[in-house]
Amino acid sequence: GYRSRAAFKLIEIDDKYHLLKPGKTVIDLGAAPGGWSQVAAARVKSEGGKGKVIAADLNEIEPVPGVGFMVLDVTDPDAGEKIRTALDGARADVVLSDMAASATGHRATDHLRVIGLAEAALDIAENTLNPGGAYLAKVLQGGAGQELVTRLRQGFTKVAHVKPKASRADSSEVYVLATGFRGAPADG
Ligand code: SAM
Repeated sequence: GYRSRAAFKLIEIDDKYHLLKPGKTVIDLGAAPGGWSQVAAARVKSEGGKGKVIAADLNEIEPVPGVGFMVLDVTDPDAGEKIRTALDGARADVVLSDMAASATGHRATDHLRVIGLAEAALDIAENTLNPGGAYLAKVLQGGAGQELVTRLRQGFTKVAHVKPKASRADSSEVYVLATGFRGAPADG
């Protein structure tokens, strides 16, 4: 079984957009308790196949076979470097972020926080993705925030908001999906 109901959201999104193909390398940010990692590992076949899943969260998880997990605050300045070390010279094909901060109940504050986490995931995506790669991140209804959308449109060929049915109807979460990464910005 899956460790989280969230697993069904990723299944639904991936059944439609086919991001998690066999052999792909995936980074799963905000991975605890590990439902998305289970789905990603099965689909890229990271156990015994060529695919690879690197996962990170503030909290420890029970090991998921085929998943390289680390405890990490994705907003730490050295988070990108730690992820790149775990990739061991490889680049990623997909960066997933289901990260969420605990709700304050203050709508604007919660919105800013989740955007901040999505931006931290984008920092990592920009530094690790292969050209053509994809980024999927949780945001809140009302969208991804103008700055984040602008960055995504610059960096990727296609940007869309996705609301899986498995996301409860009363839940304010949506996901932003960016595909066709144009390549890392020039160093400098
Ligand atoms: N996708 C997961 C699954 O299927 O099991 C569920 C993820 S849960 C909704 C959100 C996670 O984001 C929490 O485990 C939380 O610890 C993590 N998170 C929040 N802020 C984070 C941060 N700054 N760095 C890393 N993880 C973070």
